[in-house]
Amino acid sequence: MSSQKIGIVGSGLIGRAWAMLFAAAGYRVQLYDILESQLATALQELDKDLHRLEEQSALRGNIRASEQFALIGVTTRLEELTREAVHIQECVPEVLHLKKSLYSQLDELLEEQTVVASSTSTFMPSLYSEGLQKRQQMLVAHPLNPPYFIPLVEIVPAPWTSPSAVERTRDLMLSLGQRPVTLKREIQGFATNRIQYAILNEVWRLVGSGILSVADVDRVLSQGLGLRYALLGSLETAHLNAPGGVADYFQRFGGEISAVSATYGETPNTQEDRETLAEIARQCEQLVSLEKLDERRAVRDEFLIQLAKLKKQF
Ligand code: NAD
Repeated sequence: MSSQKIGIVGSGLIGRAWAMLFAAAGYRVQLYDILESQLATALQELDKDLHRLEEQSALRGNIRASEQFALIGVTTRLEELTREAVHIQECVPEVLHLKKSLYSQLDELLEEQTVVASSTSTFMPSLYSEGLQKRQQMLVAHPLNPPYFIPLVEIVPAPWTSPSAVERTRDLMLSLGQRPVTLKREIQGFATNRIQYAILNEVWRLVGSGILSVADVDRVLSQGLGLRYALLGSLETAHLNAPGGVADYFQRFGGEISAVSATYGETPNTQEDRETLAEIARQCEQLVSLEKLDERRAVRDEFLIQLAKLKKQF
């Protein structure tokens, strides 16, 4: 159990999720937001969510919901947030000029021991930390939504991030029970979105060319590949799928992999191919109407709780 202080900038969806993860591990958490009303709402939501998770036996950590909630405080003063923080997790909206302006304020205030990690899904850390004095203390720690149930965190250093900041962030994530991966250097899309977009591109092509419906193309993952991938990555999957392991797999199937890959064609333009987009949207909305999205998200989260419990045994 730790009494070190963690600062969180932005108390929206992801900021609140981080607050819960840190409090579960016993850290003292302070949330900062520009909107006082947002902080009040965040505290109410956190109180409700922690107690609901406790009732569902899905609360993380070894202390009760009320004790976890007592570890979380708020401030609207950035200089108070940075004081004595060992780590700051930045969770402001995905708008580059907003992030840049926040990081230049942080650059004035950061103490020597503090690492600042951005939750950004899309911005490489060099984009917002270039030119700052304390840029060696800045990196990305990208969670997946909902972070409370999906343990992956992508740690992405800028070229100037210090190795000790990377190492400390990794250790911190492990102390929360998250599962970090550390990229050796920054790359657009990090790893998750590079892989996710490769899948989306092919799914788009299959629906766009009329080969599969939306329901069927999603079934390929949800009733097929995804069941394996919930347990194993694609390389271990390959390793188990040939008698002589992964080297044997690529010897046997490498020719087919290259032949199929040569037929993929152009990367779809998902903004301009309006016809395919309209068709995908029409079929998706038949499966889940826009009014039912929240309900479906809640079901997803409920099953992720079960899956997380099951995965602990694997
Ligand atoms: P959100 O809109 O729910 O919350 C953003 C919060 O930041 C709000 O409370 C807002 O009042 C506050 N804010 C705005 N400007 C601020 C400032 N200058 N200083 C302090 N607080 C400020 O957004 P979110 O979905 O929680 O996303 C936050 C970050 O997390 C983004 O970088 C996003 O890319 C990343 N992320 C989001 C998801 C997701 O699924 N939502 C997943 C992974 C990563």
